[in-house]
Order: sequence, then C-alpha cells, then structure tokens
Amino acid sequence: MSLKLPIYLDNAATTPVDPRVVGKMLPYLTEHFGNPASSTHAFGQTASRAIEDARGEVARLVNAEAREIIWTSGATESNNLAIKGAAQASQPRGRHLITLETEHKAVLDTMQELRRRGFEVTYLAPESNGLLNLEKFRAAIRPDTVLASVMLVNNEIGVIQDIAAIGAICRERGVVFHVDAAQASGKVEIDLARLAVDLMSLTAHKTYGPKGIGALYVRREPRVRLEAQMHGGGHERGWRSGTLPVHQIVGMGECFRIAREEMNTEVPRLRALRDKLWAGLKDLPEVRLNGDPERRIANNLNLSLRLENCDALVSSLADIAVSSASACSSGTAAPSHVLQALGADGSNALRITVGRFNTGEEIDYAARYLRQKIDDCRSGKLRAA
Ligand SMILES: *Cc1c(COP(=O)(O)O)cnc(C)c1O
Repeated sequence: MSLKLPIYLDNAATTPVDPRVVGKMLPYLTEHFGNPASSTHAFGQTASRAIEDARGEVARLVNAEAREIIWTSGATESNNLAIKGAAQASQPRGRHLITLETEHKAVLDTMQELRRRGFEVTYLAPESNGLLNLEKFRAAIRPDTVLASVMLVNNEIGVIQDIAAIGAICRERGVVFHVDAAQASGKVEIDLARLAVDLMSLTAHKTYGPKGIGALYVRREPRVRLEAQMHGGGHERGWRSGTLPVHQIVGMGECFRIAREEMNTEVPRLRALRDKLWAGLKDLPEVRLNGDPERRIANNLNLSLRLENCDALVSSLADIAVSSASACSSGTAAPSHVLQALGADGSNALRITVGRFNTGEEIDYAARYLRQKIDDCRSGKLRAA
C-alpha cells in the first residue's frame, strides 16, 4: 500500500464525511427533496419522517429523548442559543455566569457579548493539567449565578472534564448547566439520563458527518427555560426557526448512529494509533505533553516542543496536516489561550489528532517524519528559514 501525502492528522478541526453517511444523505438532495413542513403531501412526509429518525439517532447516542433534541447549524449556534437563550430567560433571578478560561471561542465570545449586555462573567482557570477544580467551581457560585458552561472534551488538549460532578453541584445550587460536547460525540460515553446537564451542544462534522449541522439538547425534566435567538416560522417548537436542511440532518443522524455502534471498537483503535505515535516521540527531551495524560480522549496528542529559535518547525511540516494551535483561531498569530491558561509553553505547540481513516503505516511515517524535523531543528537546519 502506498502512502498518500500529506497525512491528515487534524481530526479535532474537522473529519471527512464517512462514505456511508454520504450514501445516506444523497437521496435527500434528489428524490426526497421535500420540505418537512409540507405535511399535506408525500414529499413533505418522507422528509419529516427522515428528520424524526435522525433525531432519534442523535438522542440515542447521548441517552436523551428525541423531543429534547433541537436542530441547529452546528455547535457554534448551539452554544449561542444555549447560553444567550438561558441567560436571557433567567434574568429575573440574576445576571452572573460562570465558565472556564479554556472554553472554545464559541462559548467565550458569546459570554463576552453577554457582558456587553450587562451580565457578569467569572472565568475560572483550570489546574495545570487542564481540569477544573471542583472546589474552585463551587466557591465561584453566587446567589445571582444563573448559568455555568463547561465543555466535556477540550478541543485543543483533549482533556475530559468531570461533567457528572460539576452538574451535581449546579443542580444542588439551582444553576442551569450547559455543556459544549462538540469534541465528545463518539469518543466518550454520554448518558444524559444520569448526568445533571440541562443543555448540551453537539455537532456532526467532528464525528464524520457534514459541516453546517448540529443540535442542542434541551432537558425537559426539570424543564429548562430558553429564549429563541432565531425567529421565523416557529420550527423546532419555536426555539429555532428556519426550514430544516433534511440531507444535513440525515447525515448527522447516520454519523451518530455509526458512532454509537462502533465506539467500542473505534476508541481502542484510535488509542492504539495515538499511543504508537506518542511512543515514537516521547523519549525526545524537547517534547512535552500538554493536558492530563489519563483523563483525555483517545485520539489527542498536544505537544509543546522546547526548541530555541525554531518557530519555522510548525510551518515546515509539509507531509503531515496538524494544528499549531486551535484551527478555529489559527490565522491569528496569537498563542493558544488554552495553553496559556495551563501555564504551558504555547510558542511551539502541536495538536495531533488521529481519526477513523488513519492507518498504522501513516502513524509510523508521521512519527519518523516529526523526529527528523525536530532533529533538523536542533541541528540548525530549520533555523530562520
Ligand atoms: C468545533 C467546535 C465548536 C464549533 O462547532 P461548529 O459546529 O463548527 O460550529 C464548538 N466547540 C468546540 C469544543 C468545538 O470543538
């Protein structure tokens, strides 16, 4: 088998759509193109049935009820709807919100907007391993705290927060709890029947589905109050208007179905690939792992490279597609806010995330290639290129 370059190792930024998902989506662009709101004829009814099937699949992956799932355009929109929608609906009780410094920009920028509208936000710093200290969290809750937002899996360092414990504290104190789970679906088990989570953001394109489709879980028992952010035809029980993108929704349902069915075999396979890569690099004195080594998802490596005068390294990795920070904020030269919050060295940091379609051969190549590049760096070959 010949190796195709560059090798895609940036599966936390996005994933290719699984061919099985594409196959399921295609008929909904052509023969089953109906508007699901057209309840009077077969075209609409077929589309509507497909949407409800997909809703069931998304709900099943997270052990929720289908009617607790609202379609959105992705986790960014879900985060906006959850945080703005719940904050606005809770205003009579208070205007204080809590989040973590290491959240995704879709949470942090939404919090910033709410500050502009008169809310107060506490940003908690994680421990140096990326995890939230529960006592610090408990101490940050005030009588006027209405909402807390903590991600399940961090998109840069892959650490898994203790959502069960954080949720229990929120429930006890009457604080609405939102969880951004964009990076978690198909990688960690999510059981919303057991977790005290009120709102959860999900997206398809990090789990081998299409971009531009996501969902927000909204708990019914106890009921969460939420103000709509998108007004129009009253779709999705008034919470999110707009004609539903049937093919996208079918794609999300299928990729979540596959995730549920294959998680038990896929996660160990990804862990083996990731560990193989790490085994090929960890003896280098310049390499340091960021984020807790145990409480992290199976496919993530985030490395700081302690190399002097070697800013060229990250941009010289032509054979492997990896991220120098978070893809969502690259383009800006600013160092990663996540690594900064950990007190880690973000100047020469690499995020390497393996995925469903990577092979052992690719991982061997990537490890050899990275070692060579680090060697070049050390010997001055890459200096000030
Ligand atoms: C990718 C990502 C998002 C944004 O999701 P979109 O569906 O691309 O809008 C939000 N939060 C986290 C943690 C992510 O990894």
